[in-house]
Amino acid sequence: MSAPLCRLCRAELTVTFVDLGMSPPCESYLAADELDRGETFYPLHVRICSECLLVQLPAYISGEEIFSHYAYFSSYSDSWVAHAKAYVDDAAQRLGLGPGSFVVEVASNDGYLLQHVVERGIRCLGIEPAANVAEAALEKGIPTEVFFLGEESGSKVRSAHGPADLVAANNVFAHVPDIVDFAKGLRALVADTGRVTIEIPHLLRLIEGNEYDTIYHEHYSYLSLLTTQRVLAAAGLTVVDVEELPTHGGSLRTWSAPTEHAPQPSPEVERLLGAEAAAGLGTVEGHAGFASQVAEVRNDLLEFLIFCARRGETVVAYGAPGKGNTLLNHCGIRSDLVRFAVDRNPFKHGKFLPGTHIPIHPVEALAPARPDYVLIMPWNLREEISAQLAPVVTDWGGRLVVALPHLEVI
Ligand SMILES: [Zn+2]
Repeated sequence: MSAPLCRLCRAELTVTFVDLGMSPPCESYLAADELDRGETFYPLHVRICSECLLVQLPAYISGEEIFSHYAYFSSYSDSWVAHAKAYVDDAAQRLGLGPGSFVVEVASNDGYLLQHVVERGIRCLGIEPAANVAEAALEKGIPTEVFFLGEESGSKVRSAHGPADLVAANNVFAHVPDIVDFAKGLRALVADTGRVTIEIPHLLRLIEGNEYDTIYHEHYSYLSLLTTQRVLAAAGLTVVDVEELPTHGGSLRTWSAPTEHAPQPSPEVERLLGAEAAAGLGTVEGHAGFASQVAEVRNDLLEFLIFCARRGETVVAYGAPGKGNTLLNHCGIRSDLVRFAVDRNPFKHGKFLPGTHIPIHPVEALAPARPDYVLIMPWNLREEISAQLAPVVTDWGGRLVVALPHLEVI
């Protein structure tokens, strides 16, 4: 069998970044009557391209399959809506956006971001592939069209609506299989004097923080500033500024301009490229240590859980986020080691985690069970969740645990 090809430069992908084995799609929670059926598992084998250094997961599951009926509504998260407002305020100031401007957002979801553009009296258009989510935006009065962006569809939008002063693609770039055609779509949309912003989880933070649970099938590319520059360059866009953001365990927001009209990049671009190079992201060899870091995390967690099981101590999980499934499946943890998970989302109650079949209960199930340990799955919210879980410690002497970036009994 031949190796898969790089989605940027088409070279054969012969070098492994990390191989997490087989896993079901992380959002495919099971109902009780589905437990006795087969489940489809796909590889989570992340490669690094030895030519262009793009770290990537082959498209084992197509984007259409995942995103056409996407169920995530961004406006459910207050902090996310606030993040979007701060972005719009900043962009309006940087680019001097006003009533004569035009803003396009790709993967505009339910209008959580464009509502702030509408408030400013600026003309805008959302592009969203999930029809049910786009419907919610239309109900708020935000013009939205339903399709996947590529060079062809981007050109059609430009012909129909004119070029955009700002094109935002703020949490979609890492999630498109054909990233070059998508980037060409961004170039087609933006005016010669306009800017394109994208936000991506930063590969440097993923590696430094052992954030391997952010690897899942819908997350196709794991980008550094260096590889982001290369993808955008292939579409005629040049990164002129970059910001580091705390979202998703550490993200980048890049500001790009059409290459033939791009000003000199800000010093921040050079600084961050330097930091990436110093961390080894400029060579294939520099990426080599990650797989052993991941193995270490798995060994520590399994050792701890087996130790608990031998002593007759119970462990339950707090939070059943999609990304927790990568960790649980990779470690082969089932309800013998983690008895159940609790989650605040009522849609998950009574369901089971894909692959591991760990049952999901309401948070109220914690107190009667009095577990000896509660494993916090969303490690990025550990401060907030530790405070919520104070009664575990004070009421029955339980302990809180995180597995990432390293196993820690808090
Ligand atoms: Zn490549």
